[in-house]
Amino acid sequence: MSTLENTPRVAVTAEDFRQALAEIHDKIRAAAQRAGRDPSEIRLLPVSKTVSEERIRAAHAAGMQQFGENKVQEAQHKATDMADLGIHWAIIGPLQSNKTRDVAEFAHEFQALDRIRIARRLNTQLKENDRTLDVYVQVNVSGEETKSGLELGEVENFLEQLLEFDALNVKGLMTMAIHTGDEAVIRHNFSVLRRLRDDLLERRPELIGEAGLSMGMTNDYEIAIEEGATVVRVGTAIFGERDYSE
Ligand SMILES: *Cc1c(COP(=O)(O)O)cnc(C)c1O
Repeated sequence: MSTLENTPRVAVTAEDFRQALAEIHDKIRAAAQRAGRDPSEIRLLPVSKTVSEERIRAAHAAGMQQFGENKVQEAQHKATDMADLGIHWAIIGPLQSNKTRDVAEFAHEFQALDRIRIARRLNTQLKENDRTLDVYVQVNVSGEETKSGLELGEVENFLEQLLEFDALNVKGLMTMAIHTGDEAVIRHNFSVLRRLRDDLLERRPELIGEAGLSMGMTNDYEIAIEEGATVVRVGTAIFGERDYSE
């Protein structure tokens, strides 16, 4: 028998979203306090992939002004249709080189930079549009072959090469923790990225911009905050389970 209890909660109205936001901000605050951090250092990036325009508008009415998307085409569609809202769009998934021109036109942020060829194209195309783009360099901390991102040992040299691209504003490093229920392993992934950041900040501060750390999703954002995240990318906890059938 289907019951209300086992139906995933899906936020629809602005009131639903206000409630979801309040709950997440409470958890962000608590996690920051456990780590002795100031909660205002932590930015919540709602991830709206697969979410309809109508529900994004409701989320915006509840106070969300930035959204993360992992597919360029979907994001660009939404940016065009909701141009009236002045949303800050963040691309958080890997980019094919034939999509850089679109990103250079509408996106404000790209969190999965791990190839110089992509950086160069973005830089050239952004300049043609007289725009700039905030970027995070993605690092594959867990070493899983299926994950994008640089190896730890490649990051410093990559950041050095980015210096020549003045339309790209380096904001920091991004990672996705290994997919596991083992909290200690997840925590270790996040702390490895933080230590890399700390080391670069000490030796090469000119490379790392604001030295931000984008890490943590619905299942692990509280751990990520305890380990130093300055951006958490949260989809399911805000919008409910994603429906890929549409
Ligand atoms: C989908 C996605 C998220 C959000 O995932 P949830 O588990 O729904 O919070 C975060 N980061 C990236 C890169 C994603 O693709």
